[in-house]
Amino acid sequence: MEIVNNKYQLSGGIDPLELCAEFGTPLYVYDAEIIERQYKRMTSAYTWPNFKVHFACKALSNINVLTFLRKLGAGLDCVSIGEVKLGLHTGFAPSDILFTPNFAGMEEYEEAAKLGVKVNIDAIPMLENWGLHHKDHPICIRINPHLMGGGNENISVGHIDSKFGISIHQLPHVMRLVDNQELKIEGLHMHTGSDILDVDIFIRGAEILFEAAAKFPDLKYIDLGSGFKVPYKPEDIETDIEELGAKLSSRFEEFCKEYGRDLTLMVEPGKFLVSESGYLFTKCTLVKQTTSTAFIGVDTGFNHLIRPMFYGSYHKIVNVTEPNFKPRIYNVVGNICETDTFAIDRRIAEAVEGDIIGFYNAGAYGWSMASQFNSRPRPAEVMIYKGKAHLIRKRESFEDLLNNQIEVQL
Ligand SMILES: *Cc1c(COP(=O)(O)O)cnc(C)c1O
Repeated sequence: MEIVNNKYQLSGGIDPLELCAEFGTPLYVYDAEIIERQYKRMTSAYTWPNFKVHFACKALSNINVLTFLRKLGAGLDCVSIGEVKLGLHTGFAPSDILFTPNFAGMEEYEEAAKLGVKVNIDAIPMLENWGLHHKDHPICIRINPHLMGGGNENISVGHIDSKFGISIHQLPHVMRLVDNQELKIEGLHMHTGSDILDVDIFIRGAEILFEAAAKFPDLKYIDLGSGFKVPYKPEDIETDIEELGAKLSSRFEEFCKEYGRDLTLMVEPGKFLVSESGYLFTKCTLVKQTTSTAFIGVDTGFNHLIRPMFYGSYHKIVNVTEPNFKPRIYNVVGNICETDTFAIDRRIAEAVEGDIIGFYNAGAYGWSMASQFNSRPRPAEVMIYKGKAHLIRKRESFEDLLNNQIEVQL
């Protein structure tokens, strides 16, 4: 979103104020052209011909986004059976879906096997179970290379006491199981966390996987996960995807020569593909000046965008209605009765009640982490493409708060 002729404008010249007038606030808006741009950046950065991008759909699971990415050529990375079913519903081939949950029950794995999708196993007991019931269904193994990566503790999943993956140090145990139970291992996988900046961390992780791969003669693919960082603050740097893609592709080519066969190289970005495409538009409910602080209150809270409170993450916030007013310093807070602070000491053009306040980078882990906390229905979603705005999810209503509740006489 940019300022053109003193007004904020979305791609295709769409006026965000008109969208808010038509669909109400709070409103999630996704710009499909940004998703396409990010997808193409990624596929052109990795020059290895057998390269496949799996979208980590927990980041943004609206079926229209899934269909859009499928048409671009993406596969899907799914962490629950619900996500697998959304993928199948939107036309993904089972072979283009990787089921990669963590601490899911055996029933979920059973269902994934029945649905015919690729299965990624990340615990030794699960591997044992698999051998008992499904040894003919090939699997992928999630290795934890114990690299420290990721923006903060919650999203760094590669460290030594992480709950994710099978430790690289347990590889001998894995090999014994694979041999005894005649398991078919078709893929190796790692995912070491989110917001990793350093290209060398990715490469170090890849080296560990390549070394392990030598022990598995029947591999078809190696999945290097995600963790690609996108800029949130104006001065933020992002993972240099072009450098990473070039380096990894040439290293992968060497690896395939040593391995003796050309394998598919996979990655599974969530944030990288959809974060920048999304905006959350809210309405200023009140401006409150205390003796020390000016607050902008908005008609949403961590019930609809939890990243700032959960991860301490930064989202750029602007006054969409009055971009040219003199900036003042504000704390931006939500309307939820809980600590509900989006931002502290932000320079934002002077706001009054009724102004539209826009949040950037709301495409990933925005709506998908939203709840009905405080009995406030969840927002509508709009997708814009080629100058047209499409409503892709209705705003929830009061009836949705009652949905599935059963009234009993006690
Ligand atoms: C969440 C997740 C991803 C996506 O992470 P981003 O930081 O959104 O790119 C990829 N792979 C797995 C296994 C995940 O759990």
